[in-house]
Amino acid sequence: MRERQPGGTRDRTSTADGAAAAALFPPAGHDHHACAADMLARAEATCRANGLTLSPGRRRVLEALAVSHAPVGAYDIIERLAKHGPRPAPITVYRALSFLTENGLAHRIERLNAFVACALPHDAARPLVFLICERCGQVGEVAADAVGIDVEGTCAAAGFRPRSAALEILGLCRVCAAAPPADA
Ligand SMILES: [Zn+2]
Ligand SMILES: [Zn+2]
Ligand SMILES: [Zn+2]
Repeated sequence: MRERQPGGTRDRTSTADGAAAAALFPPAGHDHHACAADMLARAEATCRANGLTLSPGRRRVLEALAVSHAPVGAYDIIERLAKHGPRPAPITVYRALSFLTENGLAHRIERLNAFVACALPHDAARPLVFLICERCGQVGEVAADAVGIDVEGTCAAAGFRPRSAALEILGLCRVCAAAPPADA
């Protein structure tokens, strides 16, 4: 049985477990090297398990995404890479992004036209929910079925064949919500 949320009226907040919430929106100053290393290691393992090749070029793009939990646009990826090496041709970055997103190693945040490294072990086809913080820009990723959203069932009931499924929710992350309002 789930512990009750004090004062809460929603009983289905199965993600509101403290550790899960901390993993979703880690505080500023957390050991992000560990997060980035996890993202890279998981991508390598996924590629090994599925016979995919994480070429150096693809890996560099993923590394550029894994620098933070905030989405990065293709142009900024090129800028990031150009700081530490030869400036990549845009087409190679776009191709790498296609590979990474098609295989679930990174995700496109449609609303922001930007990309994040995958932060959660999951099947590439699993429908996801992205929680987008409008203040700090971090994006948290949760599996839709883990929060009670039945994408497949909903589509099946409507006779709709989904091609890709991701929900994007805008708001304030727990870190920003707990911080005093930023005033100049
Ligand atoms: Zn981190
Ligand atoms: Zn993911
Ligand atoms: Zn935030």
